[in-house]
Amino acid sequence: MKIYRLPVLSDNYIFLLHDREQNLAAVVDPAEAEPVLNKLKELNAELVAIFNTHHHGDHVGGNQKLQQHYPQLCVYGGEEDRGRIPGQKVFLKEGDRVEFAGRSAEVFFIPGHTRAHIAYYFPPIQPEDTGELFCGDTIFAGGCGRLFEGTPAQMVESISKLRNLPDNTRVWCAHEYTLNNLKFALSVDGENSDLQSRYTQVEGDRRQDIPTVPSLLGLEKQTNPFLRWDSPSIQKAMNATEDALVFGRLRGKKDNF
Ligand code: ZN
Ligand code: FE
Repeated sequence: MKIYRLPVLSDNYIFLLHDREQNLAAVVDPAEAEPVLNKLKELNAELVAIFNTHHHGDHVGGNQKLQQHYPQLCVYGGEEDRGRIPGQKVFLKEGDRVEFAGRSAEVFFIPGHTRAHIAYYFPPIQPEDTGELFCGDTIFAGGCGRLFEGTPAQMVESISKLRNLPDNTRVWCAHEYTLNNLKFALSVDGENSDLQSRYTQVEGDRRQDIPTVPSLLGLEKQTNPFLRWDSPSIQKAMNATEDALVFGRLRGKKDNF
């Protein structure tokens, strides 16, 4: 399974999964149809699935047009998103599995950004390979999504599920927000030397327009404050120790950053 990253709109990424043996493709969160159709043409591949993480327009905007081009394709999304994702055919809940390219992804129910948000996780084939996590707007590189329909306690629970995955998991998040996220991270966790070096790296990459997605979950655990609500440095900066309180204060600060 080869994964292509298509930059669209101002800062979104669509991910196209290509099964080279059968020449089939799937997309995660197609904000727009055109870039997907162009890539499919280039690969000469047939689109068989849309994996949506949540209902926001910058994640489902291309659903209808893609379905018109490929009437047989299957649209997957969370069961709580019933009625909000155009063309949805499969309603997924925690622990369900979806199949593509001979691989099986596990579904996580991760409310917080929206009340219905889900993630798709493809475990590694060989132990030394990377796993692939498609987490929409829940974890970003260096940050997390805003709490539009959920509480800090829910988001802590949701991110805890993802944080339990192996360090060698690639985090395919839906936006290029990394540099700004890391600026905020430094403002609350400035002594963190892993964070400092990541910032330097990302600043250089972005100056050359190099994408910072995917990142590795291990690096997120070390440097992303929204995965570190229980670390002493973040607790101290937020002047709290209870998980949801630390997280809520952190998210509140970021909302006003
Ligand atoms: Zn969103
Ligand atoms: Fe989004």
